[in-house]
Amino acid sequence: MSVSFHLCQPGRGASCGACCGLYNFRDHSRATLTGQLAAQTEALRTVPREPDAWHTAARALLESRRESPLFPAVRVCPLLGFLDAEHTQVGCLGHPKVTGGADLRDCGVYRAEICETFTCPSFTWLSDAQARLVQAACADWYLYGLVITDVEFVRGCLQLLEWELAGPVNPEVLAARPETLEAVRQLFALKETAPGRGTHAAVFGRFTPDTEGEPLSRTLDYAALGARTAPEDEVVLCLGYVPTHLEELNRARELVRVHVKAVAHALGA
Ligand code: SF4
Repeated sequence: MSVSFHLCQPGRGASCGACCGLYNFRDHSRATLTGQLAAQTEALRTVPREPDAWHTAARALLESRRESPLFPAVRVCPLLGFLDAEHTQVGCLGHPKVTGGADLRDCGVYRAEICETFTCPSFTWLSDAQARLVQAACADWYLYGLVITDVEFVRGCLQLLEWELAGPVNPEVLAARPETLEAVRQLFALKETAPGRGTHAAVFGRFTPDTEGEPLSRTLDYAALGARTAPEDEVVLCLGYVPTHLEELNRARELVRVHVKAVAHALGA
């Protein structure tokens, strides 16, 4: 399994800046990130396109950062911004295709060679059909980046659907019909809409910072919750739930179950 097209800027509304640290804050809500990207875009808009000026501007943006990164070991690049006037596409403002020629990516937190060649694990672990489904269902920069980078979440959702249907699911079939695609979008959009998650907890999806500031995979404490495992738990974790009692866990499971059943229903099952 691996993806044969470029996941970062696949088009049709989808674009990603996750590895540039876009979501690496406790408050990574759409509204806050929209404001942050708009401010970075505006701050760099009139800076002369030469390295000294961009280094200075990038440093100023880093120093004025609104909060410390959730995972200190994961860098947050100040060159990330909106590539269009309508604020529908996120990407690197220092990329030569954006500047009109000058490669200013060295002025950010990575070297340009790294930006040019890096591919995140989703390139390896998602199939073309799974990635195309995410692209079609999450045709906006905020949701696309959250979902395309969470392999366990995408696989977990599709696995639950297969259990619900008692058979294999072809992601291409899900993407082909508008009503099915809309139900998949609602399922994937739980990344943004799922209630009661305590959005300021020190978690991002199924990860929490370890003592070095690196992402550490979380598990549910079944003994403390007095719970047994359930098929929805992988997705519940990926949504960032940190349940402290059984009712809370069951509510999260039910939310996932309802959305999976809605996809099955849209498929005519
Ligand atoms: S996180 Fe993956 S898909 Fe997103 S910009 Fe980075 S390499 Fe591309």
